[in-house]
Amino acid sequence: MIFVTALFLGSFYNVLAIRLLKKQSFVYPPSHCPQCQHRLAPWDLVPLLSYLVLRGKCRYCQSPISPLYPAGELLTGLSLYLAYRHLGLQLELLPAVILISVLVLAVLTDLRKKLILDVITLPALVLLLVLRLVIGEYSFWFYLAGGLTGFGLLLLISIVSRGGMGGGDIKLYALIGVVLGPSLTLLSLVLASFMGALVGGVMILLGRWQRKETIPFAPFIFVGTFVAYFYGETVWVWYLQLW
Ligand SMILES: [Zn+2]
Repeated sequence: MIFVTALFLGSFYNVLAIRLLKKQSFVYPPSHCPQCQHRLAPWDLVPLLSYLVLRGKCRYCQSPISPLYPAGELLTGLSLYLAYRHLGLQLELLPAVILISVLVLAVLTDLRKKLILDVITLPALVLLLVLRLVIGEYSFWFYLAGGLTGFGLLLLISIVSRGGMGGGDIKLYALIGVVLGPSLTLLSLVLASFMGALVGGVMILLGRWQRKETIPFAPFIFVGTFVAYFYGETVWVWYLQLW
């Protein structure tokens, strides 16, 4: 039930990402095909299923539907389900759901337009800071230190790489820090950079990416943060056993 609910939430995040990028209202106009403008019926909007049944094509004009739609739905569905499996019904689920939602939206806007939107990150950051006054295993100062760690590290990288890291990434890492605290934020960044370098290197070798092209970093931030937040301790133990 949680998985299915989260799929619908993911479907809403798709719409939210697209309309915030276009600075449109997210309640009006009603959902329509971006190609033929035909208004979509409720059965065209069932997460995952509609895409599968329609075999990735618009029912009305046959133009292809972006695979980002089912991908965004599945990402939201799976990650919120895993968060629930991991945390159960406890207060920490609230910052977890906000973090995952912001990260899903960051992945969607970064993949579409190489942007991470302040209009999503900043209000969520303020909300999480307020929540950290009352929710969390550690004190508020621990999580504030996490936020400063994320912000500081990314600012440093951005200065050293001369703008290789965007302002959106910096603010996003401040938010991640407020949820994860300092050490897991560092782990998240190490994992994200490692995966980014690995995938980026392979893509450049295969000729799929140009060396100078900016690579959307949000998907790596998503995976790095998810692993650090929910499996951070396991990763540390595994890492220490290597030595
Ligand atoms: Zn169409």
